[in-house]
Amino acid sequence: NSDKLLEFRVMPYAKNQRLLIVRDVTTYRQMDENRRHFVANVSHELRTPLTVLQGYIEILEMSAQDDKMQLKTIQVLDQQTARMCALVEQLMTLSKIEGAATLDFHESINIPALLTQIESEAIALGRKKSQSIQFKMDPKLSVVGDEMQLRSAMSNLVYNAINYTPEGGCIKVLWKKLPEGAYFCVMDTGDGIAPEHILHLTERFYRVDASRSRDTGGSGLGLSIVKHALSHYDTKLQIESNVGEGSQFSFIIPNNYIC
Ligand code: ADP
Repeated sequence: NSDKLLEFRVMPYAKNQRLLIVRDVTTYRQMDENRRHFVANVSHELRTPLTVLQGYIEILEMSAQDDKMQLKTIQVLDQQTARMCALVEQLMTLSKIEGAATLDFHESINIPALLTQIESEAIALGRKKSQSIQFKMDPKLSVVGDEMQLRSAMSNLVYNAINYTPEGGCIKVLWKKLPEGAYFCVMDTGDGIAPEHILHLTERFYRVDASRSRDTGGSGLGLSIVKHALSHYDTKLQIESNVGEGSQFSFIIPNNYIC
């Protein structure tokens, strides 16, 4: 039946034998597709009222200059609305990335230019925490694909490093050619992550410390976005971390995507 979506898996069975497992995943895929559409639509609908709210909060802030109590309340409103806006943006990005069945691999992305943009934003953010931010990149190394997806993947890793590294820490970003492909790596001297959490980090809404992540404005969607963006390049996010010492998030884009 051509309407059915089947998943095949071959497993070792007995000596010199293999077991072929065929699973009908039609309903599962349909449900997942419905969930994605629902999330995309809700996030899109939330965007407009949130922008209107932000506008009115700005007006209130201007008219409450002398009233300290009022100003404090308005600041909280402002922070929480900004958090909601960021969450909605992340939800929309994730839905878009999950929904793209394949990428158009004809478009060449100027990665050094993209990383230069991320670098200046990172330096501005890092300055607030007196962090040292160092980018080292091969100026000629670019890949094909979708710019939005790679920008999301790379910037999420860089901003996480800044968020989860205390004041005065150091963040290093590398983009260079290895024999296996184009290597991207973000190293930080931050809190680090305990081994039992590492396997779950790319699940939607997974956060090691929800209250900590909430303080930094985190939604728990960033690494999920990274995982989906990388799946288009047949590659995976590698995470190495030591609690109290820091973390390293990296991936290799295979040679056939380099242009
Ligand atoms: P969030 O929006 O909460 O940052 P992510 O999906 O980007 O969500 O990350 C998931 C969780 O992984 C974070 O809540 C945080 O606990 C942990 N994490 C991510 N990056 C780092 C890092 N560089 N150092 C320490 N912990 C990290």
